[in-house]
Amino acid sequence: MIYRRLEIRKGQCPYCFGVGYYHLVVGGTETCLSCLGSGKSNVK
Ligand SMILES: [Zn+2]
Repeated sequence: MIYRRLEIRKGQCPYCFGVGYYHLVVGGTETCLSCLGSGKSNVK
């Protein structure tokens, strides 16, 4: 996975950028394991 330093707002999950899921290259989506789909950062 290529990590790009994008603009991340405070409180947003840095892994899914606040959307709560990943887009898979094979199609479809997968729930973000970091925020469990909430899109909010759980890391302080
Ligand atoms: Zn997330």
